[in-house]
Amino acid sequence: MSRNLSLVGRASEGPAVRLVEVDKWYGHFQVLHGVSLDVPRGSRVVICGPSGSGKSTLIRCVNRLEAHQRGLISVNGVELTEQTGRIDRIRGDVGMVFQHFNLFPHLTVLENCTLAQRWVRKRPRQEAEAIAMAFLERVKIPEKSGSYPGQLSGGQQQRVAIARALCMNPSIMLFDEPTSALDPEMVKEVLDTMVRLADDGMTMICVTHEMGFARQVASEVVFMDEGKIIERNAPDTLFSSPSHERTKRFLSNLL
Ligand code: ADP
Ligand code: MG
Repeated sequence: MSRNLSLVGRASEGPAVRLVEVDKWYGHFQVLHGVSLDVPRGSRVVICGPSGSGKSTLIRCVNRLEAHQRGLISVNGVELTEQTGRIDRIRGDVGMVFQHFNLFPHLTVLENCTLAQRWVRKRPRQEAEAIAMAFLERVKIPEKSGSYPGQLSGGQQQRVAIARALCMNPSIMLFDEPTSALDPEMVKEVLDTMVRLADDGMTMICVTHEMGFARQVASEVVFMDEGKIIERNAPDTLFSSPSHERTKRFLSNLL
């Protein structure tokens, strides 16, 4: 059991995630241009940039919800190729949290958290439920285990989505604007959950415009525009003295 509750993933050599000169097209439209990024194990990379700049596409390529056409992406040392066996292995290592929670509305919170454990991890019901309850405790919402998503606030639903991802024991967590669909008073509870996850040493790639969060936890902030990484730096440096005009303009619009 303690193994299943561990937050810090399996050790392997090299960065947790590596992108080298990744290009991606949707039809004739090139959405990613030569994107290179190393995410060291235990680090937290925050990606920001204007709408349409390719942030979601980039992280969706990391768990192969989208395929890239050129360059290399590896996760825990395993290169993403067409081989589906590899993709299943990667998916098991990578948890994802979306803007719109994506919980199953007809399942209770507990069932949302046990479904993949039982069918993908083949855990017996009792074990899956015990793990789910432990992670619901961790996101501070165990009392809602019998509720349906529609009975929860947005912030509570997002914390369930985080718990659900953690139940699969990912070594890397991807967040795609996890707070941007939330009412302002609920943003903090979700960010607090993410900060605790960072403090526990989880490797994280977060697309977010929450600059306070970035300052608090990011090892590196990456600014993207038009499918390219324009600049990257430690949060304090990037926010206080961005090198590029586009970054300056973007950051000044956030304030
Ligand atoms: P961001 O997350 O930074 O807002 P996205 O990665 O969602 O950006 O989108 C980048 C660009 O790719 C946008 O111009 C968007 O319209 C386009 N795009 C995203 N998904 C698709 C898709 N499935 N098919 C075609 N174009 C897409
Ligand atoms: Mg997006």
